[in-house]
Amino acid sequence: MANKHVYSYGAGKAEAKGEALTKNVLGGKGIGLMEMTSIGIPVPAGFTVTIQTCEEYYKLGRKLPKGLEAEVRDAVIKLEKVTGKKLGDFNDPLLVSVRSGAARYMPGMLETILNLGLNDKSVEGLAKKTGNPRFAYDSYRRFIQMYSSTAMGLSKQPMEDMLHEMKHELGVKNDPEIPAEKLKELCDQFKAFYKMNKGEDFPQDPYKQLWGAIMAVFSSWEAEKAQTYRRVEKITDLKGTAVNVVQMVFGNKGDNSGTGVCFTRDPNTGENTFYGDYLINAQGEDVVAGIRTPLKLSRLQDDMPKAYDQLCAVRAILESYYKEMQDLEFTIEDQKLYMLQCRTGKRSPAAAFSIALDHATKPLLTKAQANDLVKKGYLPKKWADLAVKPVITKEQAVGRISSDDIERLFYPVIDTTKITPSQLKTVRLGSGINAVPGAASGKVVFTAADAERLGKKGENVILVRKETSPEDVGGMHAAKGILTATGGKTSHAAVVARGWGKCCIVGCEALNINYETHSMVIGGKTIKQGEFITLDGSQGEIYSGEMQLKEPELPAAYYTILKWADSMRTINVRTNADTPYDAVNAIKMGAEGIGLCRTEHMFFDTEERRLAIQEMIVAETLETRKTALAKLLPFQTNDFYGIFKAMNGFPVTIRLIDPPLHEFTPKDHAGIEKLSKITGLSTDKIKHRCEQLHESNPMLGHRGCRLCITYPEILEMQVTAIIAAAIKCRKEGIKVLPEIMIPLTMDKKEFTVLKAQTKATADHLIKQAKVTLPYMVGTMIEIPRAALLANEVAEEAEFFSFGTNDLTQMTLGLSRDDAGRFLPTYVASEKDGGYGIFRDDPFQSLDQSGVGMLVKMGIQLGRSTNPKLKIGICGEHGGESESVKFCHRAGMNYVSCSPYRVPIARLAAAQAALADKAAKSSKGKKK
Ligand code: PEP
Ligand code: MG
Repeated sequence: MANKHVYSYGAGKAEAKGEALTKNVLGGKGIGLMEMTSIGIPVPAGFTVTIQTCEEYYKLGRKLPKGLEAEVRDAVIKLEKVTGKKLGDFNDPLLVSVRSGAARYMPGMLETILNLGLNDKSVEGLAKKTGNPRFAYDSYRRFIQMYSSTAMGLSKQPMEDMLHEMKHELGVKNDPEIPAEKLKELCDQFKAFYKMNKGEDFPQDPYKQLWGAIMAVFSSWEAEKAQTYRRVEKITDLKGTAVNVVQMVFGNKGDNSGTGVCFTRDPNTGENTFYGDYLINAQGEDVVAGIRTPLKLSRLQDDMPKAYDQLCAVRAILESYYKEMQDLEFTIEDQKLYMLQCRTGKRSPAAAFSIALDHATKPLLTKAQANDLVKKGYLPKKWADLAVKPVITKEQAVGRISSDDIERLFYPVIDTTKITPSQLKTVRLGSGINAVPGAASGKVVFTAADAERLGKKGENVILVRKETSPEDVGGMHAAKGILTATGGKTSHAAVVARGWGKCCIVGCEALNINYETHSMVIGGKTIKQGEFITLDGSQGEIYSGEMQLKEPELPAAYYTILKWADSMRTINVRTNADTPYDAVNAIKMGAEGIGLCRTEHMFFDTEERRLAIQEMIVAETLETRKTALAKLLPFQTNDFYGIFKAMNGFPVTIRLIDPPLHEFTPKDHAGIEKLSKITGLSTDKIKHRCEQLHESNPMLGHRGCRLCITYPEILEMQVTAIIAAAIKCRKEGIKVLPEIMIPLTMDKKEFTVLKAQTKATADHLIKQAKVTLPYMVGTMIEIPRAALLANEVAEEAEFFSFGTNDLTQMTLGLSRDDAGRFLPTYVASEKDGGYGIFRDDPFQSLDQSGVGMLVKMGIQLGRSTNPKLKIGICGEHGGESESVKFCHRAGMNYVSCSPYRVPIARLAAAQAALADKAAKSSKGKKK
C-alpha cells in the first residue's frame, strides 16, 4: 500500500480503507469525498492522488513518480465505467475537475482546473449532447484560460482583456450574454495566444492535459502565496497536497442548475439553521468571486424544492456522521444534487460553545422533519434515527472547546464591519509580540502619570513605554492598552496586563520612543502624544487612528459548558489576585480561592501608598523603618479584609513581599523631592540610598524571603495585616482561610526561620483576639534547590506553590524580562528561520521535560515526608492549557492563574480528567 498513489471512489464505493483513509494521505477534500461516497451521499465519482505522491514529486525534482501514469490511467478507466462516459470522447466526453486538497484547509492558496477533457472535437460533442453550444464553448474558454495560467504559467491578464474586449464589442456587460459563436471565436483567440507564447498548439490530448494539471496542483504547494500562508499560520507539519480528479457536474446548465456553499449551522451564532448562499445557473467560482449576488439558501426551497429537501437530508447525515458542523459545497445539475466538498466549518468563538451545547443536548431535526425527509425518500431511516438525538456526550462537548475559543470570547475586538481588511492595511504601523489579546484604541501617552491624568478625565489612552516597571502600574491600569518596545510574554508589562485582561503588545523592536519630545517613530511615521493609535493584541498589530471596537457577549452556552467542565475536573482552580476588585471579578470567572496574592502590588495603587513604602525603604534606622511600615499596615489590612470577604471562605494564599527594593524607589527628580519632604532626608541622601539598592542581577539578588531575613519588621507588618484582617472577618462571621506564603525559599533552614517569625506574630494576635483562626504557612517552590530538597522543606511547610515563572528562569538560566529578544529564534522552526529548540515559549507553556521534571520531583519528595502537603502552581503557566493538564497529571491539588484565564484552566483541568479516565478505561479493557 505504501507505493499506491491513487485511490478511486464512485457509485457508493470508496477504495481507500484503514490507514489510507486519513487526511495525511488523501487530504481534507479527498477524505471527505471518499467518506461521503461510502455513506451514500451523492458525490460525483473520481479519484485522489495522494499527498505522498506530491512529496515524491518534489524529491524527484518536480517530476511525476514512476508508476503513477499507469495508476492514473487505471483510475480513469474505472471512472469512465462508473460514469458511462469517456475522456476525450467526441460525442459525450467525460470532463473532470482537478483540485488541490491538503490535510488542512488553506483557503484559496492552491490551484484548481475545471472542465478538463475538452478539446476542439469534444467541445462539439458536448454542445450536441447538451443541446447547449453556449454552455459547451463557455466551458471550453474557461478551461483554456485556467489551464494556460495555472498549468502553463501564462499571465492571466491578456485572456481577461480579450474577454473584456469581446463584451465591449458586443455591447454586453455580463459573461452569460455572450452568444455561443462568439465564445467559440474567443476560444480560437485564446488558443492562438497560447501558441504564440508556448510555441506549440494548445494540448488536445486529454491525458497530456491531465499530467499538466496534476503537476500544476503539486507545484502550487510551493508557490509563494502558499508558502507565505503556511508561514503566517505556523503550518509546519504538512508535506504537500493531494490532487482530486472528479467528474465535472455543471451548475451552469440553465435554470434547473445551480451551485452553492453552505454551513450546516449558522457559523456566527451556532444557531441550528441551515445557512448559506447559492446561485442559479452558475459554476462554483461565480459564487466565490462575488460577481453576482448570491441568493439565501432558504430560497432554494421555492426554486428547487426537491434539491433542497435532498440537501437537508445530506445536512442531517453529515452532522450525524461527523458529529460536527460542516462547511459544504454543492452543485445541482438538472435538478440533481451533487456534493463536492465537506469539512468541519470554522466558527466564531460564541458559536463554538453554542454548537457544542446543541450537539450534546438537542437533536438536529425534529421527529416531524425527519419523518418528512424519510417519507420523501431522501433520508434513510438509519440516519433519521440518529438525527433526532443529540450526537455527542457532555464529555465530548467539553473536550471539543479549545483554550483559544475561551480566550477569544472575552476580549474586545476591532469591529470589522466598520473597516475593511484593505483599509486596515493602509493604517498599519508595525507589529510586536502579542502578549495579551483583545483590541484597544486610544490616545498615545508616554508616561504613567499622563495615563492616569487623562484616564481620570475619562479619556481612552494607550500607554507606550520602552518597558514598564512596577512604578507604572497606576498608569497601566488607567490605560486601555499597553505597548512596549522591549520585553517578552512574561515581562512586567505582560504579566500585569494579563492579570487585568488588558490588551498588551510587547517587544515591538521597530518602535522608537523619544520621551523628551513626547513622540514615537514607528513604520516610518511620527506619532505625537495625544494622537490616536489602535492595538490588536491578539495579532500583535499596531495601527494609526481610532477604531471602533466591539465588546464580546458571552453566550449562555458558555456558562453551561463550563459548569459541565467543573463537574468533571478533579483539581481546583484558583486565581492570582491582588485586590478586592480582582478577587470579586475572579469569583465571577469561577475561581475557587486565591493561589497568589502579590502583596507588593498593593503598594502601588495610590501615591500615598507609594510614598509610604519608599519611606520605609530609605529609612536609616529600625525606628524610622517601623514608622513607615506602620503607615502601610492599615492599607494592607483593609485590602486583605476586602479580599477575604470576596472569597468568603475559599482559601487565600498571601505571599509576603517579593521584588527587590530598588523597584519601589523613585525614578525621577520630582519623586525624589517629594520623598525628601516627607522623610526630612536630603535629596542627595535619598539618591545615595537608591544607588545603594541598585543590583546588577536583581532577579538573583536581594529579593523574596531574603528581604524578610534581613528586615524581619516587614514580615511582622505583613503578617499582622493578614491576621488582623482575618480576625476581623471571623468576628463578623465571615469564613476565612489564610495561607501565608514565603517566596523564593531555597531550603528548610531559611524557611524555618521565617515560619517561626510568622507563627510568633500570628499566634500572638490570635491569642489576644480570643478567636480560633486556622491558618497555614507554606512556601513557593521557585528555586531549583528548593525543588531538589523538597522532602526537607516539606517537613516544615504546610503547602507548596510552584512559582514556575522564577523556576523556569532559574532552571533555564534565561532572564524572564530579557529572553523575549532572542527566544523567538529558539521557538521558531528551522523553516521559519529559527532552530525549534523549544516547541513553545517556556515562559508561556511549561517546559515539561526540564522544569516539569523538577516539579514532579518536588511533588514526590515533598509528599514523601508530608503526605498531606497541599500543592499548587501560581506561575503564568497555571492558566495555560497544556501546562494545566501537566499539573493534573503531576498530582497537584490546584492551579492558580490570572482571573481572565480561570475559565481556560477550568476547561483544561476537565479535559485532563477526561483523558485520564479514558486512559484508565482503555487500560482496563486491555487487561
Ligand atoms: C513565579 O515566579 O512563578 C511567581 C508566581 O512569582 P512572580 O512572578 O511574582 O515572581
Ligand atoms: Mg516568583
